[in-house]
Amino acid sequence: MEKTDEFGPERILEVYDQKTGMRGVVVVDNTAIGPGKGGTRFVNDITTEEVKGLARAMTWKNALADIPYGGAKSGIKFDPKTPNKEEIIRAFARKIKILIPEYYIGGPDMNTTEREMAIIADEIGRMDACTGKPLTLGGLPHELGSTGFGVYLTALQALEHREIDVNGATVAIEGFGNVGTFTMKFLSEKGAKIVAVSDSKGTIYNENGLDYEKIMETKKNERTVTAYKDGKVLSGEELFKLKVDVLVPGARPNVITEKNVNEVDAKIIVEAANIPMTPEIEKKLAEKGALVMPDFLANAGGVISSHCELKGYTPDEMFNVVENKIVNNCKKVLSRTEDGYARKAALEIAKERVIDAMYNRGWKEKR
Ligand code: NAD
Repeated sequence: MEKTDEFGPERILEVYDQKTGMRGVVVVDNTAIGPGKGGTRFVNDITTEEVKGLARAMTWKNALADIPYGGAKSGIKFDPKTPNKEEIIRAFARKIKILIPEYYIGGPDMNTTEREMAIIADEIGRMDACTGKPLTLGGLPHELGSTGFGVYLTALQALEHREIDVNGATVAIEGFGNVGTFTMKFLSEKGAKIVAVSDSKGTIYNENGLDYEKIMETKKNERTVTAYKDGKVLSGEELFKLKVDVLVPGARPNVITEKNVNEVDAKIIVEAANIPMTPEIEKKLAEKGALVMPDFLANAGGVISSHCELKGYTPDEMFNVVENKIVNNCKKVLSRTEDGYARKAALEIAKERVIDAMYNRGWKEKR
């Protein structure tokens, strides 16, 4: 994203802390639907341009998720391994306080967890300064599994759309962290056959299916899924070539590219990770007959959980809201998807919601 366009960004705040040398930035892209909501990334090479692109992605994600927030994102440009992490976070929170919570509400992102969110809320002096706080502070941490639950619901909707029975449907999942484990848990409970999962050490594959409890135990004790006894070890890359009903890229960006797109043999792809491929690659897969459920639709369980946290909901109430919203949004998107390229319809719906809010506020001339 190079320039300002009809949507934003509305506000860019670059901050510098004289004592620690911390630099940071908040980009509030669009607040037509509500205060800008998006996580705080803590990395030493973040740029304002990058945060602008991420903030715009949040505008579409929050609008499509149907939650009352606009899009925003923030970044702290500092070594995330610093022993003074708390001091840096407190300095950042103080400098961006003027935006909170009218224009910006934070959340966890790369190298920020419930601990950092608790510090931001403490420093600002209000619990609605950010989401993803610990349960003891009235938070709903992402560790409850809201994102994996949403990925599972998206897979169910896609299977129904393609008239494939979930019972016995074959699934391969890249990544066995927060999102991957919960996706496997919920899909296994529904009768799907998880034939492969991977982590940074490689892929474990069994055409008859992997057992959720046993593989969790293996990961806990041996630190890798590849130590699972009842399966064949493959490379990480081979997971993407397996003939399956559902493929879930759930760890890294850009895993399906020009190099391997022709070898992908899945009927449905549910993007749990952010940007696992470009829109051009999604189009190619759709042309080959696959149905591709885009990241900002499939992995919205986390932002919907954030909305529930600000409302003061319990974990049970949160899971109900995630289910209602993800199922409704998937149905809307799929009803407007002619081929397998669901991103087009998803983006149209998100834009329509933002434009409508802008008209209603008088930010745009009437149609
Ligand atoms: P995590 O850190 O809990 O887990 C990441 C997993 O990826 C780990 O199991 C790790 O072993 C695995 N991994 C690392 N390198 C790998 C490789 N080369 N091949 C296969 N697996 C590899 O992360 P997470 O929270 O599960 O997030 C996963 C993805 O989902 C990220 O792209 C993240 O941005 C996205 N996401 C997460 C959430 C959330 O609520 N956690 C919300 C939206 C999007």
